[in-house]
Amino acid sequence: MTDEQGPRAYGFDTLQIHAGARPDPATGARQTPIYQNTAYVFRDAEHAAALFNLQEVGYIYSRLTNPTVSALQERIATLEGGAGAVCTGSGHAAQIMALFPLMSPGDDVVVSNRLYGGTVTQFSQTFKRFGWKAKFVDMDKPGEVARACGKRTKAIFCESICNPGGYVTDLPKIAAVAEKKGLPLIVDNTSATPYLCKPIEMGATLVVHSTTKYLSGSGQAMGGAIVDSGAFDWSASDRYPSLSEPEPAYHGLKFHETFGPLAFTFHSIAIGLRDLGMTQAPMNAFLTLLGIETLSLRMAKHVENAKKVAEWLENDPRVESVSYAGLKSSPYYRRARKIYPKGAGGLFTFAVKGGYEACVKLVDSVEIFSHVANLGDTRSLLIHSASTTHRQLTPEQQEAAGAGPNRVRMSIGIEDAADLIADLDQALAKATA
Ligand SMILES: *Cc1c(COP(=O)(O)O)cnc(C)c1O
Repeated sequence: MTDEQGPRAYGFDTLQIHAGARPDPATGARQTPIYQNTAYVFRDAEHAAALFNLQEVGYIYSRLTNPTVSALQERIATLEGGAGAVCTGSGHAAQIMALFPLMSPGDDVVVSNRLYGGTVTQFSQTFKRFGWKAKFVDMDKPGEVARACGKRTKAIFCESICNPGGYVTDLPKIAAVAEKKGLPLIVDNTSATPYLCKPIEMGATLVVHSTTKYLSGSGQAMGGAIVDSGAFDWSASDRYPSLSEPEPAYHGLKFHETFGPLAFTFHSIAIGLRDLGMTQAPMNAFLTLLGIETLSLRMAKHVENAKKVAEWLENDPRVESVSYAGLKSSPYYRRARKIYPKGAGGLFTFAVKGGYEACVKLVDSVEIFSHVANLGDTRSLLIHSASTTHRQLTPEQQEAAGAGPNRVRMSIGIEDAADLIADLDQALAKATA
């Protein structure tokens, strides 16, 4: 589409419906079909050889590529402003896949000490099995982040809007540290979504998602994604040999030299998905494509409701504190307004007077809210993190992650805010009786 000013850039609401999707070439089907198949017939032996040599792009086997999953990849890459994306079976798979092309045994990654509980466990425990190390630092201290970056550091990792502590990262500041150190910045943008935040525009190299949350949106499909900005120079040093050096499994092909801005994406498909097999199912890609069609509408309502509920809780005498970056009382309020102008998301925690016992009673007394280990659903959810998602962490790690014993984590849905407030009112009455 063009006008007098040249090519017209589509807006977010148009792209969330159209990017990556076109009427099915075989049938004209308007909605993206679910290609529920494993393999694809080659035109002839020469075609097959070209595909296996990466000389031609096409479909071989659904562990690597599938048309439904490809549509989702293109849509997420477009919304994030990246060069390419790869989808995975879950958000945790996306994190492993994001680091896989960068890391060797003995390498480390400098990571925020405010992260999703499952990510803290993956980074601090499971990484060791690969010989990888995570160095946890306070992202509010850029000097500390810079000092933690050593010879074997291959990336810096943080979340944009942090789950669950009411913390928002100053992404431009951390991106500046990464640039100075010549390292890629990886941002988990699950809680913000590209509607509230586009990390690549602020200097991130890779964006990872648990599409399980707001992108699919109704708690209906597991999935993950890695988006590459395409802007990082993998050949500037000898730090990233998987991308810059000859690859023996493909006749000595050099990914960065051959594929340029798509080097990371092609490596993630041709090596990552091929050998790690963390593939997303076509059915889940279809459900996530459907979810993304209404992303902006849902996120605006999540933010509006979260603000109303957080403000109500903050003024309730049974509540000790509320940590939501959208509240004026938050130490991160001004940062959130500047970096995340459309809102601070739909997640926050609040502390109940009465501590652990009152929290447990509260989660057992709610009627509309569901007590589940999930977030980013149309439904309102809550969980007592200290007894569930964060119970593997030390008390210090729990506090750092905003998951102390007196805290309840909220994922505010898109129901009527007045009904959510009434539900919390009656549950708090029972919890603090
Ligand atoms: C849920 C979540 C993950 C893990 O994603 P799964 O899809 O559950 O594997 C990672 N990061 C954040 C911020 C999350 O909320």
